[in-house]
Amino acid sequence: MATQGSCRDAHDVHSLPVDEALSRIIHAVRPVNESETLPIVSTLGRVLDEEVRSEINVPYATNSAMDGYAVSGADLPDTGERELILIGTALAGEPFMEPVARGQCVRIMTGAVMPQGTDTVIIQEEVDQDGDVLRIHAGHLPGENVRQAGEDIAIGQVILSPGTRIMPAALGLLASLGISEVRVKRRVRVAYFSTGEELRSINQPLVEGTIYDSNRYTLFGMLMRLGAVPIDLGVVRDRRDDTRHALLDAAAKADVVITTGGVSVGEADLVKELLNTVGDISFWQVAIKPGRPLAFGEIDHKPFFGLPGNPVSVMVTFYQFVQPALRRIAGEHVTAPLTIKVPCLSRLKKRPGRVEYQRGRLETDEAGRLVVLKTGPQGSGILRSMAEANCFIVLPSQCSSVEPETIVDVQPFFGLV
Ligand code: AMP
Ligand code: MG
Repeated sequence: MATQGSCRDAHDVHSLPVDEALSRIIHAVRPVNESETLPIVSTLGRVLDEEVRSEINVPYATNSAMDGYAVSGADLPDTGERELILIGTALAGEPFMEPVARGQCVRIMTGAVMPQGTDTVIIQEEVDQDGDVLRIHAGHLPGENVRQAGEDIAIGQVILSPGTRIMPAALGLLASLGISEVRVKRRVRVAYFSTGEELRSINQPLVEGTIYDSNRYTLFGMLMRLGAVPIDLGVVRDRRDDTRHALLDAAAKADVVITTGGVSVGEADLVKELLNTVGDISFWQVAIKPGRPLAFGEIDHKPFFGLPGNPVSVMVTFYQFVQPALRRIAGEHVTAPLTIKVPCLSRLKKRPGRVEYQRGRLETDEAGRLVVLKTGPQGSGILRSMAEANCFIVLPSQCSSVEPETIVDVQPFFGLV
């Protein structure tokens, strides 16, 4: 993809590269210390704060992997065949309790504990049975069709490490080991408010020049999906005292403070100005589109994110910067979002200078290829492009417009949100 340095925007040179902004944010935040011990059903989506070891063997006892006959490996014939006497049956949950001597065998079902004196299961299709007499043939190996105690998980083995976010499989794994409660990090509290004289809440009538506040709702959704505690402080007027009070109130109530709006170039710059007095600013501009006016700093030692006002910018900057930070604060191991390379069937307009996150749909075309298309107009105020998307198309800073069939980087939402 060709670069066109001449198209570079004057602001871009003052903006921090995306990677550097993310790295500064990640280095500035610390995991919460407090944790709580909860019943496992209450831990879905929470971050584990202990190393979980198994106190039992899985399988608990050596058992049969098939329906068949439990025999001793020492009775297996090298050539020809051998007759064994059938002395009983072992079922799953109903073991055969007597020892089995050489020359004897036991009918056994899948999952049944191997009777004492046996170590091998011959599947039922491979024997001839005549009343109490079983005829087995050469060609079997000692130990076949048997699951050894501790084969999946041995006593003392670490099965989940601290920093793991608990997903449905982990709940099942814990239950399979008889573990009823685990220690998890406490939820991260995030206070947020919207700024802007033009904003109305959803139960108020709109008059000319006003718009509904949508940012508090996308933030609520994104925070809930992350397992954070959302603290909605409403809409704050663009007045110095109101905004200062709201910033301090947010920092007092939460671990992290987020605002939207009021950080654009050429605006009253109220949030920026106040942060210089009540807190500290790390940076103000990132070479990202949408979302260049992105502020990061701290108020009262609490991380502060001043997100842009435009609804799509809020979501893009949240996923790229706030989410990794919140994961780290929650105590989770943070990894980069899954990125895949696929052909893009749309023409994408872009100027060099900023990393762009366009909204796309990953689909399978008629030929069965995984491809991506853009979701209509990409303006930073057009939330519909986001609602219809299932991925971000990530276009590197130096890249200019993309022609159809170009291979692009895509971050699927299913791995990201
Ligand atoms: P600002 O960053 O405050 O200049 O806002 C940029 C654009 O986003 C303006 O068109 C605002 O009206 C709009 N905007 C700001 N906050 C919100 C919000 N909470 N919900 C919807 N749109 C908003
Ligand atoms: Mg504003």
